[in-house]
Amino acid sequence: MSRFFSEKYAGLEPYTPGEQPQDRAYIKLNTNESPFPPSVSVAAAVKEESELLQLYCDPECRELREEMSKVFGVNSKNIMMVNGSDEALNFAFMAFADQKRPLVFPDITYGFYPVFAQLNRIPYTEIPLKSDFSINPADYTAINKTVVIANPNAPTGLFLGLDAIEQIVSSNPDNAVIIDEAYIDFGGESALPLTAKYDNLLVIGTFSKSRSLAGARLGFAFGNEKLIADLNTIRYSTNPYNVNRLTARAGIAALKDNGYYMNNCRIIEKNREKTAAALKDLGFTVIPSKANFIFAKSDRIGGEKLYSALKEKGILVRRFNKERIADFCRITVGTDEQMTLLTDAIKTIFKEMNL
Ligand code: PMP
Repeated sequence: MSRFFSEKYAGLEPYTPGEQPQDRAYIKLNTNESPFPPSVSVAAAVKEESELLQLYCDPECRELREEMSKVFGVNSKNIMMVNGSDEALNFAFMAFADQKRPLVFPDITYGFYPVFAQLNRIPYTEIPLKSDFSINPADYTAINKTVVIANPNAPTGLFLGLDAIEQIVSSNPDNAVIIDEAYIDFGGESALPLTAKYDNLLVIGTFSKSRSLAGARLGFAFGNEKLIADLNTIRYSTNPYNVNRLTARAGIAALKDNGYYMNNCRIIEKNREKTAAALKDLGFTVIPSKANFIFAKSDRIGGEKLYSALKEKGILVRRFNKERIADFCRITVGTDEQMTLLTDAIKTIFKEMNL
């Protein structure tokens, strides 16, 4: 730390992103990316747009929001586009949480929530998930705080039904409820229709998982017009050009090929169920997932050991050094071929270690 670093960030513990190693080729099952490339029209659209890079991008993202409207059936005034959904989360925390409206989220969830809370000096409470890692909606009912829930949750993959979401949203009318739907396209049901009924519901999504654009950084938020206007106040006070030209063009092209991406999601779901069954056959405890990853642990090998043994064999998974989940690995669901390599590698590890 330099002697110039502001005291207000002295205790800040930054988020640790998943490894993006460059030392060798790995089968990357550690950061929930899509194993499928963007649709072919994306590269062509980006190439064409690159000839206009001398010009600033449209801070209102009009064309992109119009295309979003068509695909999601939402009026464009109810949409804000951002530089990855992480940015939407940060903006939402800045806009809708403070000392008077502290944050509340599960103890096991996306690791960026406490970081954004600390960054913005917002007090927060972590509510323990039940022993099966599910969320008890009663814990958030009429809680009178700004609620943040990842649905499906990460890293568990568990989906919370819309009845429960509605109960939480309707019982906290004086607080924003932020539903982070980064993984919604893999079998969950979006709370988006509820945004028409509740002015306190913000639904956040991303192009990083189901739409193969993690490297382009594109996310979005849906909500009541006034919520979106508040978020834009924050956005225009930080970085109005947050979605660059190439990314906006990539997003438009991807939305026009929506069928391709939704079909890929169905393939991922199929691979997920097949892999979950194979892991259960090997004795793993597997949490039922509606996301593009599987959260699993084995009684035969600890989380850290399995992670390292897989890495040695060229397969990267993610592990969290945290109470209650230290023996789990989070495995991104890739292609059928990648998943077969994963289960074969685990079998080999068990054999080599005489487990
Ligand atoms: N929410 C959750 C639950 C996530 O796991 C992630 C991915 N790390 C994000 C949001 C952020 O994704 P992105 O910024 O790539 O849209």
